[in-house]
Amino acid sequence: YAKADGRGTFRFFEQAMDEQLQARRALEVDLRKAVTNGEFELFYQPQINLRDDEIAGFETLLRWHHPERGIISPSEFIPVAEDTGLLSSLGEWIIEQACREAATWPRDMHVAVNLSPVQFRSRGLVQTVSRALALSGLAPQRLELEITESVLLQDNEMTVSTLHQLRRLGVRIAMDDFGTGYSSLSYLRSFPFDKIKIDQSFVREMSQRADCLAIVQSVASLGASLGMPTVAEGIETEEQLRQIEAAGCTDAQGYYFGRPRPARELVYTLAALKNGVKVA
Ligand code: C2E
Ligand code: MG
Ligand code: MG
Ligand code: MG
Repeated sequence: YAKADGRGTFRFFEQAMDEQLQARRALEVDLRKAVTNGEFELFYQPQINLRDDEIAGFETLLRWHHPERGIISPSEFIPVAEDTGLLSSLGEWIIEQACREAATWPRDMHVAVNLSPVQFRSRGLVQTVSRALALSGLAPQRLELEITESVLLQDNEMTVSTLHQLRRLGVRIAMDDFGTGYSSLSYLRSFPFDKIKIDQSFVREMSQRADCLAIVQSVASLGASLGMPTVAEGIETEEQLRQIEAAGCTDAQGYYFGRPRPARELVYTLAALKNGVKVA
């Protein structure tokens, strides 16, 4: 294998690069096939309203059932789908499917759909969303679009105009992974948002680190004074739940309440809920 000298190290490095490139190419090829073969599925994770402990809605999380590798995480393949232009048709399918499924849920439960920065900037987005609403009959205010701060890095007219057009349709906009980007606070002033999702990295370390807890608390009170609901992501323990409730977060999401699950399994979640059984 690689010798300890510089040359050997370099060759080892070259080989690793080569393997990475090949893996990436293979993923691209497989992704193309996946779109035509229908290997994608939407999973749903409950979001709990802490005022009444009811399910307020579900976030949809994309899953790829790879024929050989099993389930592949969206964080691995979405960037590749973006680079290869495959995300536009896939993104349309996600929005339509999510609206179609949410239209069958009880009450006014919402469905939250993630939008990547490339999706957000694509030309047909507003049309895709309004078409999905019309086709499914879902009330627009039950659709929530999650965007991250990186969408707003390109602080241009088009970004602002798209946000306004979406809101004019009646859909809601949530800022995902809040606190991980740059100058989050100025975004809150310049763009119309309906909800803040506090990134799970802060929640995870909240019990051990005073600074993380302080961040969660300040975002929650910021949300309260701006009249915006704040969702704490990544709640896994009862202690974390107690802390975010004390901090004043209005909603919670995480494995403690339920993992992302296929649509057909939601039926049981919703039925259990009706009988007053805990979700997780
Ligand atoms: P995100 O939108 O911030 O989603 C939250 C991620 O945290 C999900 O990972 C979810 O499964 C995971 N999670 C939820 N509760 C817990 C918890 O208690 N503990 C831990 N450790 N993790 C938890 P997932 O499903 O792998 O998705 C990763 C990211 O991929 C998402 O982050 C989102 O940015 C992106 N993504 C997922 N689905 C879609 C999609 O349909 N379209 C687009 N454009 N992006 C998507
Ligand atoms: Mg939530
Ligand atoms: Mg999200
Ligand atoms: Mg998030």
